[in-house]
Amino acid sequence: MLAAERQYLLERFLNYVSFDTQAKLGAKNSPSSSGQMKLAKQLERELQSLGLSEIHLSKHGVLTAYLPSNVANAPTIGLIAHLDTSPDCSGKHVKPEVINNYRGGDIALGIGEEFISPVFFPFMHQLIGKTLIVTDGSTLLGADNKAGIAEIMTALSILSQSAQPRCNLRIAFTPDEEIGLGMQFFDLSKFQCDWAYTIDGGAVGELEYENFNAASAVVNITGRNIHPGYAKDKMVNALTLACEFQQRFPADETPEKTSGKEGFFHLHRLLGDVQNVELHYLIRDFDSEKFEQRKAFLAQLVEQFNQQKSLRHGLTLEIKDSYRNMYDTVSQVPQAIQLADRAMRECGIEPNHKPIRGGTDGAWLAEKGLACPNIFTGGYNFHSKHELISLEGMESAVKVIVKMAELAV
Ligand SMILES: [Zn+2]
Repeated sequence: MLAAERQYLLERFLNYVSFDTQAKLGAKNSPSSSGQMKLAKQLERELQSLGLSEIHLSKHGVLTAYLPSNVANAPTIGLIAHLDTSPDCSGKHVKPEVINNYRGGDIALGIGEEFISPVFFPFMHQLIGKTLIVTDGSTLLGADNKAGIAEIMTALSILSQSAQPRCNLRIAFTPDEEIGLGMQFFDLSKFQCDWAYTIDGGAVGELEYENFNAASAVVNITGRNIHPGYAKDKMVNALTLACEFQQRFPADETPEKTSGKEGFFHLHRLLGDVQNVELHYLIRDFDSEKFEQRKAFLAQLVEQFNQQKSLRHGLTLEIKDSYRNMYDTVSQVPQAIQLADRAMRECGIEPNHKPIRGGTDGAWLAEKGLACPNIFTGGYNFHSKHELISLEGMESAVKVIVKMAELAV
């Protein structure tokens, strides 16, 4: 990559993180925060100056554009990144610091109250000698997902000026991914691709195309509250029942005891008193059959409790599916994985095929029939003050995107 392109990449990234695009939970509007629209408008102008066609910014902050192929009969590949940052950590007045030639050891952030240490983050050992971009310790950085946007824009800049044969590219920058509303107003009928990629992963080499099947469940337990002095044989304590209920779950199948492709039940909220308790669960599994079994297990448990305890009002259960494993769709389009894998290898990067223990916008797209694996951005420690990225990692992502566009024809 040319030194000038590398400089543009860094400048673009530093410019994008200066926009406060934090997603707001419970907002009435879409996008949920005005900064996302401001960034989208800026990107719209940049896409125009790069000469892309079919540029469209919807009133809900979905920005799409098209770079046509320079050869006949080329496939069309989508590239997607999100405008918003996590609600978990402030993204206002981000003051990034660029560290040239990282020497190893702790990095003090800002005035030094916060620091990032390889003791906690051993991946930092692999970044020695690289140019790192960190925060001043008061906000997140926003590499999730502005690095993805800067990488796509830089790749578009390189591709649009090059005579190398390339495929058609459709671009989408979407709002509110972090609050699960990214695809709410996404018009897939106007985003016709053979397959697509989100550029929203972490360390260099990450290639993800399997995610959890996910559901949420609420169990409601109604007890009978009586004055404790006269409660014998009359009181039904919903709190006691809730404790008993929770004891029936397999003890090893929780987030803190599982990894890789293992699924879990996660009790993440417990509210209540003697009269009434609500237990809120997340249910996760990569395997669709086991996922259904987990939901059935919970339904049976509720049923059993209702019978055994002969409760008057009983336990009630509400289960809602959240998203599905994208693998079923992606496996129908093996070229999507093969192309990314080959492009990485040709760029000298060892691909790391790994499952996502969460969901992405790609999961939603997969449900609608568009295969959409996720590719690395080069960033780490997303959603926190300790977020960081290397310029070299971002360059690798740009190279992989360019290589994919060229190898696809
Ligand atoms: Zn992201």
